Amino acid sequence: MNQVKIPRSHPRYESLLLREKIIEGYKKGIVVLPGLIAHGRGEAFDYIIGEKTQDFALKAIEAGVAMLLLAERPVVSVNGNTAALVPAELARFSELTGIPLEVNLFYRSREREEAIYKWLKMHGAPKILGVYDERIELDGFESMRRIVSVEGIYSADVVLVPLEDGDRTEALKKMGKKVITIDLNPFSRTAQKADITIVDNIYRVLPLMINEAKRLIDADREELTRIVSSYDNKRILSEAILFIRDRLTRLGEQGVFV
Ligand code: ATP
Repeated sequence: MNQVKIPRSHPRYESLLLREKIIEGYKKGIVVLPGLIAHGRGEAFDYIIGEKTQDFALKAIEAGVAMLLLAERPVVSVNGNTAALVPAELARFSELTGIPLEVNLFYRSREREEAIYKWLKMHGAPKILGVYDERIELDGFESMRRIVSVEGIYSADVVLVPLEDGDRTEALKKMGKKVITIDLNPFSRTAQKADITIVDNIYRVLPLMINEAKRLIDADREELTRIVSSYDNKRILSEAILFIRDRLTRLGEQGVFV
């Protein structure tokens, strides 16, 4: 395969590496063409937030992990881009917390869901739902994402849905589930509708979630409840948007900054 070698010194090293992962995912049948476009939308927002994890994301990560650890039946929904970008980290997070992964796709085909299952298994994921276990069709979804695992999303009280679109977040909320998302765009419908929105690149978020899970896994429920109940997603989204405004103002005033 013709893989491009990106020098570490390249100023866009990380961003180019992620592009390669997405392209590889596409070649493996894990990512679909619209996934490439969605990735580009994320890249633009990453550029704007400075390609670094900011404070508003750290607070949302802490609350998100606490909410997942408190849940009775948590699940992590995995789509093609998520699987292509952070397969080993998803597996590690799942192993550490005992929270299963569930393959849930907008553009669903048997080949694609099996490819993602195999890919996650290869990276060590202990439990992957949504492919070989019992599934059910949910009302209120037009896309193929209405097909969910009975044991997973169908019965879940808390769902982590990274890189998601607004319709599904809304439908999950209507079903009474708590929704945590990872989305670089604080203006997206998903970001606006979720209970906890981590505005950052999933590639940086998953390692931080693993660290946070290690720190909080033995915390008592009181402590986890305190973290979740003192969290305010509206405030976090405000912080993210004001951060963008201030950063752009600063850069704009400087004129040339590279
Ligand atoms: P909505 O329907 O919620 O308004 P949308 O139409 O933008 O959102 P999609 O394009 O389906 O939804 O979802 C992709 C979302 O994921 C976008 O908001 C994009 O910014 C975000 N995204 C893409 N790549 C990443 C990434 N690597 N890390 C975090 N977020 C990402």
